[in-house]
Amino acid sequence: MAIEFQILDFLHPVGLFQTHNSLDRSQWYDPQELRDQQDQRLRVVIEHAATHVPFYQSLFARLKLNYRDIQGVKDLKVLPVLDKETVRANFKQLTADNAARFAPRLCRTTGTSGIPVEFLHDRLSNTLEFCYYWRYWSWAGYRLGMPFAEFTLHHFLNRDLKIRSEHAPLMNRLMLNPALLSLDQVWGFVADLKKHRSRFLKGSPSCLFAFAGLMAMKGFAYDGLTAVFTTGELLLPAQRRQIEKVFGCRVLDSYGHMERTVAICQCPYGRYHVNSDYGVLEIEKDEHHSSTATLSGTIVGTSLYSMAMPLIRYQVNDLVEMRTDGQRCECGRGLPICEKILGRSQETITTPDGRMLTNVFILLDVLEGALWAQIVQETTRHVVVRIVPGEGYSKASEDSFVQQLRRILGKDMTTTIEYLLSEDLTLLLKRKFNPVVVRSKD
Ligand SMILES: [Zn+2]
Repeated sequence: MAIEFQILDFLHPVGLFQTHNSLDRSQWYDPQELRDQQDQRLRVVIEHAATHVPFYQSLFARLKLNYRDIQGVKDLKVLPVLDKETVRANFKQLTADNAARFAPRLCRTTGTSGIPVEFLHDRLSNTLEFCYYWRYWSWAGYRLGMPFAEFTLHHFLNRDLKIRSEHAPLMNRLMLNPALLSLDQVWGFVADLKKHRSRFLKGSPSCLFAFAGLMAMKGFAYDGLTAVFTTGELLLPAQRRQIEKVFGCRVLDSYGHMERTVAICQCPYGRYHVNSDYGVLEIEKDEHHSSTATLSGTIVGTSLYSMAMPLIRYQVNDLVEMRTDGQRCECGRGLPICEKILGRSQETITTPDGRMLTNVFILLDVLEGALWAQIVQETTRHVVVRIVPGEGYSKASEDSFVQQLRRILGKDMTTTIEYLLSEDLTLLLKRKFNPVVVRSKD
């Protein structure tokens, strides 16, 4: 989830500071106040969609609904879930007839089908995105203008991929190029952090894990960080431990997506909070994981601030486990608690005997000294584990990992290990990382 925040948006500082102050206050509301505020904002979006968005105008007509029939989240289920295929096929219909007044900007992301989906960000959603990150980072002590470093391939793709880092003075942001991360270049990244005196570091878990691993291999250190922020993919426990060990500070993880319907982030007490003042999170129940205190399933998200193209009940194929017993976080915030982010549903390994293994990635936790590892289900009956061994890679831990993996997969599946060279790491980090990949379609 990138911040598509451009200089143009700064021309509207009133909206920016209003949103910031509003989010700053609402995090401390009690759960009922937050739900009331969310319903109020949802009514604005629903009325706008039913009045200005052709797709919803015809949907409401077909369902014989009035926008007043939806007073809050509890009424949302009268509307069908919106999948990526529908968004892809109805771009124009989903665009508001008054979209221009929200300064829309075209965005694209690759859907679960591998087909890119196009949608619109607008000034309101950009402001929200900026203020959401501002608040989340402030939980770790960040204030606007503090030196902040970020691994971002996105930034360098449209520039020169041979540049290691670039300083953006407006926000005092140091952009780091993950495509150049290697054993030979790691010293340069550490030197850049030192020169910039970065207090915070952001990146994807696999990138920061590799960076920390390479630093450890070379014996480099940087002790200037207050916190590390991870986003964009599932953070594994072993990755968190390695990053926290090398940088000597906490990792605060987050979950979000380009379409900006749902944002979840960790507070200093280690809990994942759903930003219910950012979007509405509903879940499609998955019977396998739910307990008396939690409910798990895939995310259905509704944006509360995207007006150029409102996405209502948008189907996101990521699994989460939500707390349903009303337990509050020790930090005092009223934002709902997400017990676990379980990963993406397409990463579920289905065994020949029909079991759905959604948490196989935790096995990678036992692999000591690996710089990068991935479990790939190549066929219904065969799994390949791809590993980039680092310094201190242990054959004993590999044996115990393989043993555990085979035990979980069962007797009908075979496994092999494939070693990749550390030179391949640069190439691997250019791709979006999934700890578990399923190639078997049968
Ligand atoms: Zn908390």
